[in-house]
Amino acid sequence: ATPTALMVGVGRGASRGILIKGHDALEASGTITTVVLDKTGTLTTGDMQVADVTADGIAEEELLGLAAAVEHGSEHAIARAIERAADDASAGGYEASAYDALPGLGAQAEVEGQRILVGSTALMMEHGIALPPSLESAVDSADAQGRTAVVVARAGRALGVIALSDRLKADAERAVARLHELGLETILLTGDSQPAGEAIAARLGIDEVRGRVRPDEKAAVIQELQTAGKRVAMAGDGINDSVALATADLGLAVVTGSDIALKAADIILVREQLMAIPEALVLARKTLRTIR
Ligand code: ADP
Ligand code: MG
Repeated sequence: ATPTALMVGVGRGASRGILIKGHDALEASGTITTVVLDKTGTLTTGDMQVADVTADGIAEEELLGLAAAVEHGSEHAIARAIERAADDASAGGYEASAYDALPGLGAQAEVEGQRILVGSTALMMEHGIALPPSLESAVDSADAQGRTAVVVARAGRALGVIALSDRLKADAERAVARLHELGLETILLTGDSQPAGEAIAARLGIDEVRGRVRPDEKAAVIQELQTAGKRVAMAGDGINDSVALATADLGLAVVTGSDIALKAADIILVREQLMAIPEALVLARKTLRTIR
């Protein structure tokens, strides 16, 4: 590899918001077969909104208020959206204590002396909490729309479902199509449910979905693909993604992400646009061709 060609490649990337951290990254880019895309914050803006509230045996405002009190302790985008919705509904005023974050699942805390759980259906299952039919169908309808369903339970009983929507980035579909044109396979990876992931994948034409993947399992999914002979690029943003980014043959961090993800990445995309992902791979291929 001639240093000059590599430097030209790195410089050309930088002028287009593609920061290539090392020469190894350029070399790796040329052999990638599979691009793993994180859903929340990577394919979507991560700016979540409460889209629907279904309460069972409790007022909607009370449900939102209880959930918001618990989420006050969380830094997840879901938490911010629920707090905002509670404010808008003037449903604040509950105090939570003994907060516990449950990464990849949700959160829990005490409110008015009772344990409130807020999180995925998987979290509810772990606690042996069954959903009544009205809440089951609220979850199904959220899943079908690619929304994130968050269940709220008090003292072991499910009280409601809060459905959150997130916007796809404007060029998500185009970026996926371009990756396919380049002969690359695409896989969506998410901590959200399999059906919610599939709804998004269908909209974007993504080849495969791995849903309900816990933060500590993301790297194992990458390894499994590598063991199957694939050369994997991973694009992600969150703290959740840093180990997976480092495990991948090529880690691409989107710049809105956390510092940890940035450190773990080989390439940093300082642009909101997802087209930067295929562009980075094309640039790397061209640079390699010049070198050889
Ligand atoms: P991702 O980064 O793929 O969106 P996470 O691993 O952060 O996923 O979360 C996975 C799932 O866990 C979310 O879709 C949600 O159902 C649940 N979850 C995580 N954190 C929270 C929270 N603070 N409140 C409610 N649900 C949560
Ligand atoms: Mg994420």
